[in-house]
Amino acid sequence: MAKVMAVNCGSSSVKFKLYEMPEEKVLCSGIVERIGHDDGIFTIKWDGQKDTKTLPVPDHGYAVEIVAKGMIEKNIIAHLDEIKAVGHRVVQGGSYFSHSVLWDDDTVKKVESLIPLAPLHNKAHLTGYFAFKKALPKVPQIAVFDTAFHQTMEPEDYLYPIPYEYAEKYHIRRYGAHGTSHKYLSEVAEKYIPESKDKKMIICHLGSGASITAVKNGKCIATSMGLTPLGGIMMNSRTGDMDPSVYYQLLAMSGKDNETLFQELNKKSGLYGVSGISNDSREVEDAAREGHPRAVLAMNLWGRRVADFIGQYYVRLGGCDLIVFSAGIGENSPDCREAALDRIGEALGVKYDKELNNTIIRGKEGYLSTPDSKIKVVVIPTDEEVMIARDAYNICLK
Ligand code: ADP
Repeated sequence: MAKVMAVNCGSSSVKFKLYEMPEEKVLCSGIVERIGHDDGIFTIKWDGQKDTKTLPVPDHGYAVEIVAKGMIEKNIIAHLDEIKAVGHRVVQGGSYFSHSVLWDDDTVKKVESLIPLAPLHNKAHLTGYFAFKKALPKVPQIAVFDTAFHQTMEPEDYLYPIPYEYAEKYHIRRYGAHGTSHKYLSEVAEKYIPESKDKKMIICHLGSGASITAVKNGKCIATSMGLTPLGGIMMNSRTGDMDPSVYYQLLAMSGKDNETLFQELNKKSGLYGVSGISNDSREVEDAAREGHPRAVLAMNLWGRRVADFIGQYYVRLGGCDLIVFSAGIGENSPDCREAALDRIGEALGVKYDKELNNTIIRGKEGYLSTPDSKIKVVVIPTDEEVMIARDAYNICLK
């Protein structure tokens, strides 16, 4: 038995979960938010209890100290030495990493070199790594990349048809995201299609950021997110794929600067942009149910984009045995699932049970499809942290 920590360091937050491995028992979880502010927030949950404190958190190093102190204070651990490995989520691993690796100088160099592709994230992951290294100098740490699972894509699936030298020189290609989630879901999902030879799945990770992945025999064949998380399907506040001329024309016509417009495509578009209501899909759904015309339009647009990708991946895979819904929206929103499923039903022979669609929410797992559906449809709650803890245990302690 060994205690292993899964962490996700953002530019102003550190999320953590402590596991007893290999049992995968969660001992505690929590988050330090508003790092760099006088009113930072530390929340820790353990044993059915929860504690929240507001306190100054000048930097990531201090955040790690708060987490360590919190775990000792709550008697979750007696001493920091009990933690035997730490796994970090890293958003961008480029073409360097097709699986998780130990953090060493080479990993640091490569993650650093990828900062231009994920400026906020990769910088924060490095800061987090160094903060944990300082607090736990003898403990091995690993990096688990959001992009690693997608490294099995073929060039036809990851290249953009731009001048080839740009792809080579600037490493411009599709990397995808949410790979740890897609990998987890593809592994859990296999039990639903034991009879299938090729295990063809279309996995819909629909959170505030969202991506769809085509998986065959446990390997990623294609994924919707692109060079950055702005690509793919329409999201809560991101455009997803669109004609690049939209950007060019808007720059010329709006008179806005490059950065402002880019931020708008990331933060003010998608369901939010079309509806004008909110970047939380729940509020857009509520408004659509009340007949708000632009909310209805936004939901329809969203459903069509998701259906288009499912259709595309059905062709790419040469069929499909299973469609999986997961993440905040996929696990909780009957309306959004319906918006997608109603648009693929006729073409793909997908039938689902409305009652099940309404009741499989809030962490429940199970079928949405009826027995006569040509493709099975299931909801599976995702768990990226356990994948990080598993890799940390397997790489460092096994
Ligand atoms: P991320 O990790 O990308 O922030 P999550 O997977 O946690 O995303 O999903 C968050 C999103 O899921 C919210 O912004 C909201 O749109 C949606 N969501 C969360 N809970 C519900 C719910 N109960 N019903 C409908 N949608 C929900």
